[in-house]
Amino acid sequence: MRHDWKRKNPQDWIAQAMGSFESSGIRKVFDLARKLKDPVNLSIGQPDFPVPEPIRRAAIQAIDSGHNSYTVTQGLPELREGILARARETLPPAACEDRSILMTSGTTGALVLALTCVLNPGDEVIGFDPWFVMYPNLTGLSGAKFIAVDTAPDFVPDPDRVRSLITPKSKAMIINTPANPTGALWPEEVIRALAEMCLEHGILLISDEIYSIFSYDGPFISPARFNPQALVIDGFSKSHAMTGWRVGYAHGPTRLIEEMIKLQQFTFVCAPSMAQHGAIAALNVDMSAEVASYRERRDFIRRELAHDYDIGRPGGAFYLYVRAPHGRNGSEFVAEAINRNLLIIPGQVFSHHDTHFRISYAATMRTLERGVEILKEMAKV
Ligand code: PMP
Repeated sequence: MRHDWKRKNPQDWIAQAMGSFESSGIRKVFDLARKLKDPVNLSIGQPDFPVPEPIRRAAIQAIDSGHNSYTVTQGLPELREGILARARETLPPAACEDRSILMTSGTTGALVLALTCVLNPGDEVIGFDPWFVMYPNLTGLSGAKFIAVDTAPDFVPDPDRVRSLITPKSKAMIINTPANPTGALWPEEVIRALAEMCLEHGILLISDEIYSIFSYDGPFISPARFNPQALVIDGFSKSHAMTGWRVGYAHGPTRLIEEMIKLQQFTFVCAPSMAQHGAIAALNVDMSAEVASYRERRDFIRRELAHDYDIGRPGGAFYLYVRAPHGRNGSEFVAEAINRNLLIIPGQVFSHHDTHFRISYAATMRTLERGVEILKEMAKV
C-alpha cells in the first residue's frame, strides 16, 4: 500500500476549494454577541415576528399524522403547484412556457444546487459589490470566479459597466433586489437591462428573490419578467420568519431544474417534510401587516439617522447600509459600536470596500430606539 507521507495532520485533508472562503464575518459578530450582556442587536438578518399560527399548526399536524418521512425529491406536488400558480399570475406567459420547480432546503439549498449544476472551474459569475456572503463563496467552491461589479455609491448597478465585464467565460449573473446588505430596490429599467443582457449573451440569470415581499418604495419586479430563462430562487425564511424550517425553492428552465433534482437526490434528498406541509399553509397566510410594520421601522430609523449619516435609499428588505461617518473605516466604527454594546456588521464582510456598516431593523422598536441613541452619540465624535 502506498502512503502519502505529506498528509500528516487534519489540515492536509482540507480541500483546496475551502481556502476560497473564510468563516462568515457575520458569525464572528454573533459570537461576540454571546459574550455581551444585553447587547443592542441590530445584526440579525431574520424577522423578529413569530411564524404565523396556521403554519405552525399545519406542521404540527403533519408530524402528528405521520408525515415524517422523505417527500419526493422535488417536493410536495401541492406546494410546488401553488408556488408555480403564483409565478404564472405575475410573470408573462412566455416566462412560464418552460418553467419547472423544485423545493429545496432553504434558499441556500437552491443556491448550492444551482451553482454546482452550472459552474465549471474557470467560469465566471457576475455579481455585485456589496454582495450577499454566500455568492462568492459558493462560486469559489466550484472553482469558478466571482466578478463583483461595484455599485457604490447608490448601490444600483450601471448596466454599461456590467456589460463591459462580460467575457466568453461569463456563465451566470446573480441579482438580488431588494438586496442584502444594502436594502436597495433597483429600478425597473436597470433590472430589465440586466435581464435582457443575460438573454442576449446566453448568461444564466439567477434571481435571488428572498426579500421580494419586503418592497416598500415600489412594487417588486422580478427579472424573470424580462428573461424567460431566468432561474428564480426564493423561500419562506424571511417572508414567514421560517429561517429554521429550511424551505426554499427554485423555478426555471426544465433542463436545469432536472439537473438540480438529480443533485438533490444525492445531497439534501428533500426539503424537510413537515416544513413543506407548513409551507402549503403559508401560501394562504397574509403577511401584509408584518410587512407594513417593517416599513414603519425602516421609516423610523431612516428619519432618526438621516441627519447624522449617509444612509442611501433603503427601498426594501430590512437592512440599512450606512457609511461610517467622518471618513472613518467601517470595521473600526463597528469595533467601537460593539464596545458600546451595539451589534452591527462591518461592510467589509460584503464588499471590497471598508467604508460602510449594515444595520438590520428586524428588531423591536425598543431595540431600534436604543440603537439609534448609540449611533447618534457615535456620530458626534
Ligand atoms: N439569499 C439572501 C440574499 C439572504 O439574505 C439569505 C439569508 N440571509 C439567503 C439567501 C438564505 O436564506 P435561507 O434561510 O432561505 O437559506
